[in-house]
Order: sequence, then C-alpha cells, then structure tokens
Amino acid sequence: MIKYLCVFCGSSLGLQSIYSDQAKQLGTLLSSRKIALVYGGANVGLMQVLADTVLNLGGHVIGVMPKSLVEREVAHKNLTEMHIVSDMQERKAMMADLSDAFIALPGAFGTLDELFEVLTWVQLGIIHKPIGLLNTDGYFNTLLNMLDHAVQQKFLRPEHRNILQVDDNIEHLLEKLETYQPVVAEKWIDRLKQGKI
Ligand code: AMP
Repeated sequence: MIKYLCVFCGSSLGLQSIYSDQAKQLGTLLSSRKIALVYGGANVGLMQVLADTVLNLGGHVIGVMPKSLVEREVAHKNLTEMHIVSDMQERKAMMADLSDAFIALPGAFGTLDELFEVLTWVQLGIIHKPIGLLNTDGYFNTLLNMLDHAVQQKFLRPEHRNILQVDDNIEHLLEKLETYQPVVAEKWIDRLKQGKI
C-alpha cells in the first residue's frame, strides 16, 4: 500500500495549462487518499502547484532540498516537513528511502535525471519500488519511443522497459503502481550469450 509517494516534476509550468491541471488533480487525489507527498521542496513550477494543492487540502508534504538550492531561495516555506541535505545525491537517496513509490510528471533535466536514477536502481535490484510516468497529453511519447528503440537494439531488456508504468490518467496510474509486481531479471543481456550466466 502506498503511504508516501515521491513525485518528480518540472520546476517550470510548461506551455500548456493541462500540465498544471494534472498536477492539481494529483495533489487532490493524494490528499483524499491520505498519501503523503515527497518531493524536491521547491516553490516554483509544477512542484509548487502540486505541493500547494496538497497543503491547501490539509495533506502532508515532505520536501527534500540540497542546501545550495535553499540558499538560492527556491525553498517552499510552508511544508509539513523540510529536510535540508548536503547535495543532490543525498537528496535522491533520502527521497527514495522515504517513499513507497515514484511518479514523474512532465519536466526537464532534473525530472529525467531523478526518473532514470530510480529506474536504474530498480533494474539493478537496489530498490524494489514501483515507478510511474504520467504521460500528460503525450508529453513523454518521444521518450517512450526511445526506450522501445533501446529494447529493439538490445540495449534494454523488455522486462526492464516494463518497470516503468505509464498512463495519461492519474487514477489509472496509481492503480498500476498499487498492483505492481517487482521485476526479477539479470541486467546484462550479453552475459547469457557469453556463457557467464
Ligand atoms: P526540471 O525537470 O529540470 O525542471 O527539474 C525538476 C526536478 O529536479 C524536480 O523533481 C526537483 O527534485 C529537481 N529540481 C530542479 N530544479 C529545482 C529547484 N529549483 N528547486 C528544487 N528542486 C529542483
């Protein structure tokens, strides 16, 4: 059961209002289901929209922010809990420790970095938590095509491609995360061919 959900999302709002609309929908769902939000702790972009929605509805929001970003005054001042850590790596580790599952919403380098880090950890069996991608209005279609290309070119196992649960509907995505079964597959595709496993 998911009690703490970590959300990675843009520190910008994006071009279309649907990005903020879905961030608000997610915040509303989290507070109605009493799921605590774990996120980067910022007061900018979709991150702020999401955190404010949960807070305004009386929900629980935990921010994890490196000291350097707090000094640049992007920290949200009204969170339920704020953890100040020394750097980005410590932040990612703490966000992962605190959470039962992860969702990425539209975003850019920061969001993609966080998403791929947890995907890599699950692939290597370091953690076994569900990971979802909210494909708002097809924002991530080209990224998903890239992952399919990586499978087709035998850099990525289909089992590992399928670690990432995808939906454009928040309720359906949460449902997929709740019923997710951890993947067990060797990371290295060619070791079998080489007779090493
Ligand atoms: P981006 O997608 O590049 O806008 O980066 C957003 C993601 O990276 C969030 O999930 C945050 O955890 C992290 N991040 C990037 N910029 C900031 C910021 N100014 N304040 C807090 N976190 C940030």
